[in-house]
Amino acid sequence: MHIADNVAIVVNDGGLPAGSILPDGVTLVDRVPQGHKVALTAIAKDAVVLRYDVPIGYALKDIPAGAWVHERLLQMPEARALDNLPKATAPAWNAEPLTGFTFEGYRNADGSVGTRNILAITTTVQCVAGVVDFAVQRIKEQLLPRYPNVDDVIGLEHSYGCGVAIDAPDAIIPIRTLRNISKNPNFGGEVMVVSLGCEKLQPERLLPPGSIPLQANEALDVVCLQADKHVGFMSMIDSVLASAVPHLERLNARRRETVPASELVVGVQCGGSDAFSGVTANPAVGYCTDLLIRAGATVMFSETTEVRDAIEQMTVRATSPEIADAMAREMAWYDAYLGRGQADRSANTTPGNKAGGLSNIVEKAMGSIIKSGTAPISGVLSPGERLQHKGLHYAATPASDFICGTLQLAAGMNLHVFTTGRGTPYGLAEVPVIKVATRTDLARRWHDLMDVNAGRIADGEATIEDMGWELFRLMLEVASGRKKTWAEHWKLHNSLVLFNPAPIT
Ligand code: CA
Repeated sequence: MHIADNVAIVVNDGGLPAGSILPDGVTLVDRVPQGHKVALTAIAKDAVVLRYDVPIGYALKDIPAGAWVHERLLQMPEARALDNLPKATAPAWNAEPLTGFTFEGYRNADGSVGTRNILAITTTVQCVAGVVDFAVQRIKEQLLPRYPNVDDVIGLEHSYGCGVAIDAPDAIIPIRTLRNISKNPNFGGEVMVVSLGCEKLQPERLLPPGSIPLQANEALDVVCLQADKHVGFMSMIDSVLASAVPHLERLNARRRETVPASELVVGVQCGGSDAFSGVTANPAVGYCTDLLIRAGATVMFSETTEVRDAIEQMTVRATSPEIADAMAREMAWYDAYLGRGQADRSANTTPGNKAGGLSNIVEKAMGSIIKSGTAPISGVLSPGERLQHKGLHYAATPASDFICGTLQLAAGMNLHVFTTGRGTPYGLAEVPVIKVATRTDLARRWHDLMDVNAGRIADGEATIEDMGWELFRLMLEVASGRKKTWAEHWKLHNSLVLFNPAPIT
């Protein structure tokens, strides 16, 4: 990955046996599995192991050239302290603006643009989830055929709303997440709420006056299941269906129009990462991120534990010292959050990551941060906050796929890009998810789940630039509704999962 590195990874299918001779003359002394590291030179005990020109560990014993370098041979470096960080010191980014690229989107009254036209039913509490699910099925069967321009009807189900310390300071995170998800561009500004009645998260607390635009004299559209008028289950279902009709009528009247690519709001994420992630898929996404930023669009990268070890790369690229300080503040908050649970960033890596060749979180982070490309970072969002301007943002979220996706939805994402090496069928009902495989082997086996095969970079069949452009063009097709992702085709949806660092009662 870098000329200074003293390890490289084996990309060959099935790995390489001992005795294999590498192009630069090194002979393997161990069998090295695919995606795993081989020592390019002898590495003495305690010496630094460099990948991406970054210390990913220190040798626990002498490692001969040609040996398999796995996590049991490495001492992980300490996390970089969050003081004395370089702030906004990167040279000016002189990339040419990219003009002339458009997609067909749904323009909203608030200026945002949807890539899908979905009726989303906001819920205040988990208690109503079963009723809402029942009602959604009824709406799909009985109402949706009359509204052919509406893509889908979904219930925004979650586990929050009651049995929680709702006045605890950190409760602001799940509450604003739910509030902002209801305003996601793909829902066309239509907000309807189903409430139980006795829950802590009352509708007016979730969506206080002014938090969503309403016509004069119009009240928040709430169906309350405990209302006296409801006699029997079916009367609740009838209320939800009746409430849905005006929203469906307005959504159905909308049409796609040509909008500039700058209206894309892309959340990038990875899950089930392997050592190829930082070699193929994430660099391709990073190249595409640069294209999007050159086109004036918005890109969010997240997953705090997976970028913690790249904090210095991030603060250097901040557009101002204040943005750099905001990054450090989010990282410090997360360090403390993990510390309260007697964990640290090393709790991130999974058995699958390690089987895929990632020795530790430092190595994983260096492969993860590449998704952010090279553009200046002009914004930082705390968990659950909504974007305020365009450009490249660090949206601080946990790395958990579902929680990260949920928080990026709250930020206002209208398109999601997800890279995976081990493979995951991840999808969201709220936005299209384009999945990018890091390895050709995965793309071949999961041919009807993976949308893009970035493994072609490792195969020598495509360059990072080729794949970045392919992904960019695919995004415009998917955003326009001309192409469905595999997750959409099969209707594979993961649940919304809220980040609630506050106590449960
Ligand atoms: Ca993730």
